[in-house]
Amino acid sequence: MNIAVLNENGPGEARVALMPESVKKLVALKAAVSVETSAGLGAARTDDDYREAGATIVSDRNKLLGSADVLVGIGRPSADVFKKLKKGAVVLSFLRPLDEPGELVPALEHGLTTFSMELVPRITRAQAMDALSSMATVAGYKAVLLGADRIPRMFPLLMTAAGTVPPARVLVLGAGVAGLQAIATARRLGAVVEAYDVRAAAGEQVRSLGAKFLEVDLGGIQTEDKGGYAVELSEEALKRGRDLIAEQARSADVIITTAQVPGRRAPVLMDEDAVKGMKRGSVVIDLAGATGGNVTVSKPDEVVERDGVIIMAPTNLPATIPVHASQLYSRNVTSFLSLLIKDGELHLDMADDVVGPSCVTHEGKWMNHRVAAAMGAAA
Ligand code: NAD
Repeated sequence: MNIAVLNENGPGEARVALMPESVKKLVALKAAVSVETSAGLGAARTDDDYREAGATIVSDRNKLLGSADVLVGIGRPSADVFKKLKKGAVVLSFLRPLDEPGELVPALEHGLTTFSMELVPRITRAQAMDALSSMATVAGYKAVLLGADRIPRMFPLLMTAAGTVPPARVLVLGAGVAGLQAIATARRLGAVVEAYDVRAAAGEQVRSLGAKFLEVDLGGIQTEDKGGYAVELSEEALKRGRDLIAEQARSADVIITTAQVPGRRAPVLMDEDAVKGMKRGSVVIDLAGATGGNVTVSKPDEVVERDGVIIMAPTNLPATIPVHASQLYSRNVTSFLSLLIKDGELHLDMADDVVGPSCVTHEGKWMNHRVAAAMGAAA
């Protein structure tokens, strides 16, 4: 069984899907691993590091793809890459199956078995494969550093001979994995932190990190599904949240927004008036830019300014911390791959409660109900 790793070439991408430490583990499972020349350089790993771990370095991309039984990636491979794989080959990466299902038609038509890291179920058994959480952790951390770097003041409370410097105020909207990491990071830098989430369960986690949880009376409506995820709220409930946020935003130095609803457009939490109500020099980091944004004026990967307030919506912060992001991702995909390898051979058990639900296409069929519905097909 041959596992291939490409040199990721998406814009600004510096991560690699498998780090040498994971290659060693896969080789121990009797898999062969081929890595495209220089694939690890962005994550500070050389071709020699991969050779020492037991991988073969391949410079000819077509040859690498043509001989792969499994292609492991980070971003979704292009249609051209899908077509160069053998029929029936396996692809494992972030595929954005619910956001852009049509992009997977070439994989379906070519008979590829595709697994999406976004669809790995969040059950206890699959925790080690939860790449969404790994990347959200990195993004939440980096968002605080970006904000701290942009504001014209310091984060911690300082008492100096020249007088007292008050701490920065940080507001975090959405207290899931990214939001909680942002809270923890901002607290470590000495900021006073407040956070808001529609899930009541988030309150306890926010408070345990030393931040204040902002409560909104949403009239007792259901805000989360059975899986613990937020559901799409009514316009009235969203408005109540927005009013509270606009009020709190006036005194914030940095706002980090992370609110998402799986498979839906991100909820709008701040409109232009809320941004304009903020102090000059304050910064908003919108981490939901890739799914439409939480802030109406944010633009993906652009820096926007409104009355002295800076709004940024970086869509790939994990790629800016490539060593640790790659290390975490690599461990996640290696845990998943270990479910597909038996005695060094590819073994696909679609009845497995992690493997089956993570699959998007197999033998020319859509395997996921929601993706199939979006494509007007049956699953
Ligand atoms: P996410 O990225 O889908 O959303 C981020 C946050 O935005 C969530 O906390 C959500 O409640 C919040 N949100 C959605 N709409 C909102 C709105 N209108 N206003 C304010 N906030 C809003 O979420 P995530 O970080 O991937 O995780 C969500 C949940 O899944 C959490 O409960 C988390 O603990 C849980 N989780 C479980 C596992 C596991 O069991 N293996 C792993 C990871 C996460």
